[in-house]
Amino acid sequence: MTPETIQENLKAIKYPGFSRDIVSFGLVREIQINDGIVNVYLELTTADPTIPEKIAADIKTTLGRLEGCKEVKVKIEVNAPKQASKAQKNDESPSPNTLAGVKTCIAIASGKGGVGKSTVAVNLGCALQKQLSKNGGKHVGILDCDIYGPSVPLMLGASGRPELRNNKIIPVENFGVSTMSMGFLVDDETPVVWRGPMIMKTIQQFAQDVDWGELDILLIDLPPGTGDAQLSLAQTIPLDGALIITTPQAAAHNVARRGARMFEKVNVPLMGVVENMSYLESSDGSRQEIFGSGGGEATAQQLGIPLLTQVPLDPELRIGGDQGIPITIGSPDSNAAKAFHTLALQVIDMIAK
Ligand code: ADP
Repeated sequence: MTPETIQENLKAIKYPGFSRDIVSFGLVREIQINDGIVNVYLELTTADPTIPEKIAADIKTTLGRLEGCKEVKVKIEVNAPKQASKAQKNDESPSPNTLAGVKTCIAIASGKGGVGKSTVAVNLGCALQKQLSKNGGKHVGILDCDIYGPSVPLMLGASGRPELRNNKIIPVENFGVSTMSMGFLVDDETPVVWRGPMIMKTIQQFAQDVDWGELDILLIDLPPGTGDAQLSLAQTIPLDGALIITTPQAAAHNVARRGARMFEKVNVPLMGVVENMSYLESSDGSRQEIFGSGGGEATAQQLGIPLLTQVPLDPELRIGGDQGIPITIGSPDSNAAKAFHTLALQVIDMIAK
């Protein structure tokens, strides 16, 4: 028995309710072996007391079977989600958490890809910045954690590479919105080799090594799906809420609902649903429901949260994304831009409460 073999065996233990194991989530802090007695020390963030109990029981069963193991002792330090965030925000150690100046962190999530999550993150970011900067200043950041398709820099027109200052990464800025993304760290030709296991490390690095400065709101564009990223994120960044993005069709809203439940498991409040691609408006004002109807309302009802806005399908929205001029900036009077401004006002209202 060595700490390495113990670590290997711990990889068989899943975080309750998730497909990821406790080692790859970075929860195992120390392993000691003294004369056949194995001590495992873990640290995790949860408000659910059954989680550490279940993990401890699983560790004892798994390691207890190993040859030469006389006894297994498990110590788990549990941080409550809100206390953890305060501790992080007040951290005055030599390497303070760079989120110290960020007042509110909101995750933007969807059950599957292609529903417009990044489009919402970028346009909501610009709409919030417009509202909050009436007296000047920088107020909004977007952290692009969608390692599978980091499209925020392109959609925001934020080009160039982030600079390093005092060993911290300085986010790239456009339209007053600061952003940091995997997209800055790879060129277009580099194949995306990061997959699930890298999410935790990426998020940790983006939370610890990026100098966000003072921000009212940091939007976090998550990779679509599964829930592992949501859990990783909740372990690392003090999340104040999550917005769920869906399209009107049943297939999308079913997965959106499943993704949203993952936030409930980690005690992150669901703020509301954004329905995207709701309808296409013709020049005569008539509306076609290309992707069906009712998905946003159904998701909201089933989760017991409000449907905050419905964003129409608009070719200008796609073109604006491709050209790096979000529709909230390029065509502020369009119905799509208005839908994002409605959303921004609701978000500001919610975080003021
Ligand atoms: P996700 O982040 O969920 O994968 P994106 O935001 O990247 O989705 O959107 C996928 C594509 O659809 C992009 O090309 C984007 O410009 C386009 N798109 C998103 N929402 C709309 C909309 N309401 N109208 C037109 N095009 C849209």
